[in-house]
Amino acid sequence: MISIPNFFLPSLFCASGQLQRGLPPPLRSFGNVEIAPFKGGAPAAVSISADFELAWAWRNLSSEAMEARGAAERENVPRLVAMLDRHRIPITWATVGHLFLESCKRGTDGCGHPEMARPAKNFGWDGDWYVHDPCSDVCSAPSWYCPDLIKLIQQSDVGHEIGTHSFSHIDFGPDGADTALVQREMEACIEVMRPFGLHPRSLVYCFNHMGHQHLPLLAALGLTSVRDRDRVRLAYPERTDAGVYKIRESMNLRFARRYDYVAKADLFLRESQKRSAAFHIWFHPSDSWSVFTQVFDPILNTIASYRDRGEVWVATMQDLASYCEARAMTDLAVTTTPNATRIAMRSTVDVNRFGTPDITLVVALPNNPARIIVIRDGVSQLLSPSAVVRGRQPGTIQFDVSCRAEQIDITT
Ligand SMILES: [Zn+2]
Ligand SMILES: [Zn+2]
Repeated sequence: MISIPNFFLPSLFCASGQLQRGLPPPLRSFGNVEIAPFKGGAPAAVSISADFELAWAWRNLSSEAMEARGAAERENVPRLVAMLDRHRIPITWATVGHLFLESCKRGTDGCGHPEMARPAKNFGWDGDWYVHDPCSDVCSAPSWYCPDLIKLIQQSDVGHEIGTHSFSHIDFGPDGADTALVQREMEACIEVMRPFGLHPRSLVYCFNHMGHQHLPLLAALGLTSVRDRDRVRLAYPERTDAGVYKIRESMNLRFARRYDYVAKADLFLRESQKRSAAFHIWFHPSDSWSVFTQVFDPILNTIASYRDRGEVWVATMQDLASYCEARAMTDLAVTTTPNATRIAMRSTVDVNRFGTPDITLVVALPNNPARIIVIRDGVSQLLSPSAVVRGRQPGTIQFDVSCRAEQIDITT
């Protein structure tokens, strides 16, 4: 029964600390040119993640309950892909590595995956870490493998990201995993994802037990972002010393008993726009379908309408981290004369991890430019006039350009 009116929600979440001010975007201004905090000059970013795990996350439950979770997720994933297609919203599917397998076999010692390291302790069961693994195949044990669903997600043309959630749903917390275990788990993920043309870039820590002590190792393995939990829910993605971005969780998907959860999401989305923050919501695809129709769908609708008005940039965790890295690692030298602005760009982005994303430049100009020439790899190209739009601030224009461009010449 909803008993708290929507107008009271700002006070409620201020009092609980959730709306406390988080990290702002670092300033990236160079004379009259700024690299926008988010792509397209949007005042906020939105990313969404799914903890995609079938039965693997629920091994502390009865075998009926874990199979039920697996079956529900199998039923929900195709419906979720269709729902996200309808809203044109890509998300990050943080996928348990074992799900990429078509089948697996028991080792000579009778246990699953003798090649894998084991955590020091299990979570509520006796015996081997892999004792629940049916060591069978996707047809006989569909709650433990799902290359079929992963391919379905890859076929959607909204551009979903397939991230990782470890190989066997380990606890990354200080008591759950040492470096050797994390390394083995992540290497196994890299191996099973390769045939799908994938490399893990974003990680969601299982059980939401933060494992930030492993960030240098994760960076060395090619990862670029992790989902982060903190009391403050809205912040700009934080570049850690390891060069892996922490993307702050804003809320998880659920029914709220005492207030309208969709109104809470809307409040957080509006607050994000006021403070250049990245809003992030996550969910378990195995949850009851009613939470997706009654809460998730309306939240996606809200996000899509902000996106269509240019008020939020909807991105996967990977794309968000890549943009922030390109923004942080690109320096501009700007020279202006009465009729021209020349921007020399120098980027030190690690392209192997982050790719070569576009960044959005916002240029203060009194008049519309006559033309903009972009030089990349020594080749000059005229920027299409339709790619140049008015900025959100009066007297500015903005356009996207590869972070690998060398020089931009704006003539007014
Ligand atoms: Zn197995
Ligand atoms: Zn999980």
